[in-house]
Amino acid sequence: MLGAIAGDVIGSAFESDPVKKLDFPLFGRMTRFTDDTVLTVAIANAILRGEDYGSSLKRFGQKYPDRGYGSNFYCWMFASVGEPYNSWGNGSAMRVSPVGFAFDSVEAVLREAERSAAVTHDHPEGIKGAQAVALAIYLARGCKSKNEIKNEISSRFGYDLSRTLDDIRPRYCFDISCQGSVPESIIAFLESDGVEDAIRKAVSLGGDSDTMGCIAGGIAEAFYGAVFGWELSGFGDEGSGSGLWRMPGYGDFLAERDPTVWERQADLGAPEGFADAVAWLVPSEERSDETPAHWSTTFAVDDADAVADGATELGGQVLVPPMDAPWVRMTIISDPEGAVFTASKFVPPT
Ligand SMILES: [Mg+2]
Repeated sequence: MLGAIAGDVIGSAFESDPVKKLDFPLFGRMTRFTDDTVLTVAIANAILRGEDYGSSLKRFGQKYPDRGYGSNFYCWMFASVGEPYNSWGNGSAMRVSPVGFAFDSVEAVLREAERSAAVTHDHPEGIKGAQAVALAIYLARGCKSKNEIKNEISSRFGYDLSRTLDDIRPRYCFDISCQGSVPESIIAFLESDGVEDAIRKAVSLGGDSDTMGCIAGGIAEAFYGAVFGWELSGFGDEGSGSGLWRMPGYGDFLAERDPTVWERQADLGAPEGFADAVAWLVPSEERSDETPAHWSTTFAVDDADAVADGATELGGQVLVPPMDAPWVRMTIISDPEGAVFTASKFVPPT
């Protein structure tokens, strides 16, 4: 669901300041994660932990209450009971991507998409929007072609996917309905040549840009298999839960600047694919109430000192100034949202 989250984050800067073009900056000062990300994670949590969809949505929403929820959802989120409110809004579609990734038959995907939607969005269009997005993800995961996905979604849900973005864009404006934003987001995916391109195309319609980026990005990730070309593989001991994000070709880029880097990594027993690693995720157990269990995230960077300087300029905070440690020069940074990560330059001994 990284594609969905990337789409939300990238689109967030344009929700109230729409663009009608493709060449906009992916990230900037206005970039943030919004309700689409929070509720996508809530649905994934419900599936992985067997929690009821409604209670998971409420719990995550209450934890991040200032992320731009619709007013009906906001009331539902804090209501002691919280009945569904017959919504046809695209909130059901923006949060559904984990369903398309987690279930393994058309029937299960449609059933769970409906269940995940119906706790709030029990209007037929609200349910249809969620089912269409989840099914598109499921089909894309199953290596169906864009034409097969297009035909299946348009015949099953009655969405007009024969339009092009160029037809739609001139007259398109902010529309939070499923029926007025899900088909357009799917078309952005159908016309794309990668995850980033799908998100750019969805945002370029100048509508509910974070949600449309989220929907298009989720489907595109399932179809293209990698977000920004990054591929995830296991790392370290079997079952350690650690992950290594690789960008094929990154090692070649490093080697251009440092011709013996591969040899030195191999001499040190670096695991396969290590040369292409751009980020690592390592689980960290709960240490105290203030430091709950979390994933520790490290990004490979070219220059840890420059990154620390840049982070401060962009509104982040340097928690641990650049320092030398075995194999690396590293710094620990908190972004403006409070997310903590390490930026590390690999410095193998010579
Ligand atoms: Mg949003």
